[in-house]
Amino acid sequence: MATKFWDKEAETMSRADIERRQLAGLKVAVARALQTPFYKPRLEGVGIKGPDDIKSLADLQRIPYTTKDDLRKAYPYGMVAVDRRDIVRLHASSGTTGTPTVIYLTQKDVARCADFMARSISATGADANDVFQNVVNYGLFTGGLVMHYGAERVGMLVIPSGTGNTSRQIKFMKDFGTTTVHATPSYLLHIHSKLAEEGVSPGDLKLKRAFCGAEPYTEDTRRKIEGLFGIEVFNSYGLSEMNGPGVAFECERRDGMHLWEDGYILEVIDRASLESVPDGELGELVLTILCREAMPILRYRTRDLTSVYPEPCPCGRTHRRIARITGRSDDMLIINGINVFPSQIEEVVMAMPEVGTNYLILVEKQGSLDKLTVKVEVGPGQFADDSRPLNALRERIRARLQALISINPHVELHEPGMLPVSEGKAKRVIDERAKL
Ligand code: ADP
Ligand code: ZN
Repeated sequence: MATKFWDKEAETMSRADIERRQLAGLKVAVARALQTPFYKPRLEGVGIKGPDDIKSLADLQRIPYTTKDDLRKAYPYGMVAVDRRDIVRLHASSGTTGTPTVIYLTQKDVARCADFMARSISATGADANDVFQNVVNYGLFTGGLVMHYGAERVGMLVIPSGTGNTSRQIKFMKDFGTTTVHATPSYLLHIHSKLAEEGVSPGDLKLKRAFCGAEPYTEDTRRKIEGLFGIEVFNSYGLSEMNGPGVAFECERRDGMHLWEDGYILEVIDRASLESVPDGELGELVLTILCREAMPILRYRTRDLTSVYPEPCPCGRTHRRIARITGRSDDMLIINGINVFPSQIEEVVMAMPEVGTNYLILVEKQGSLDKLTVKVEVGPGQFADDSRPLNALRERIRARLQALISINPHVELHEPGMLPVSEGKAKRVIDERAKL
């Protein structure tokens, strides 16, 4: 299939052109930032008093990092660079890790978000022939509205169904012939587990593809969703601080997410030294947004862990790809002194074909030690009179986890539908130790 470009010129521009755009964009962003109470003293403190102090992209390195904490300090209007009357919308992060942070958009910003989103959507092959069900929250969360505007820009028929009421979601999919869906991977798996109850089989649906993001998931989870529905799943990355979805998206090759470098300057840094790491090496993603007037954010530490693909993508897009996010640096659990990322546990669990669509990680105190329990739903029909196959599965999961994370976990198997589900971002980890 031929690659579909939304804006071929922008998507395939040469590295030199990307860098020229970035330098011009950075000068504008710095000029705007100097208008804000938050950035003015910061930038002046490092000798940046005007856009002319940015002479090359290397000057980016002079600018201090911005953290989530800084955004909270600048709450509510400390980073706004335009007249209040020019702001037309605000969004807030979902607050997964604390107080929500707020971002603002002008009319032009709203249009630019839709454009980046439209590029991303088109790269998956979706177009005006598609019926698009947007199964994410439409509130303050960027994922709903920003994706919605992009999908309309592409010309898809958009069903703004939001989350919840799974049986109605399934009815919409069937009745309207939904071809493309946007949901968190965990909620999409939940929808699948309810199909049979609604008397629907994946073959009754016209579904071709899903955009999945907003939470970390593994390659095995992607394959699981693809296999269960018989569709293609495209990884979608964004964060509200950077306008939400449309920051980076997989093209039809589904191998790494193109990060739109004419809208963002990307860096990957070592979390200890805070120095850039070479392409291909894992580190924390740092982003500078160039495509927003209302609220500049310079060198934002996303806390998301990824690496940059060293090779160009065969699709022809020149914007570099980032690897699947393996987690947030603050997701890391320390269990009896051993560092464990929830994604490592998901990798083991979801690779087992007998495993169903949901799992949960529980960490508790047991005396002076930490106890790790991994609760796993199995696929339908496996709780039978003969418990031997399940016992064998439990032991296989336990042994593989122990080999990978050097902790001997307690593994529980559950019937389908027994573990709690979230319609938005999944809550996979319950850390009871924090409550002590
Ligand atoms: P919050 O920070 O409160 O969760 P956001 O809605 O802005 O609010 O969430 C953005 C975060 O979601 C990202 O920083 C990242 O950790 C996670 N995320 C988004 N898309 C993906 C994805 N495709 N893969 C992994 N994690 C993702
Ligand atoms: Zn590509």
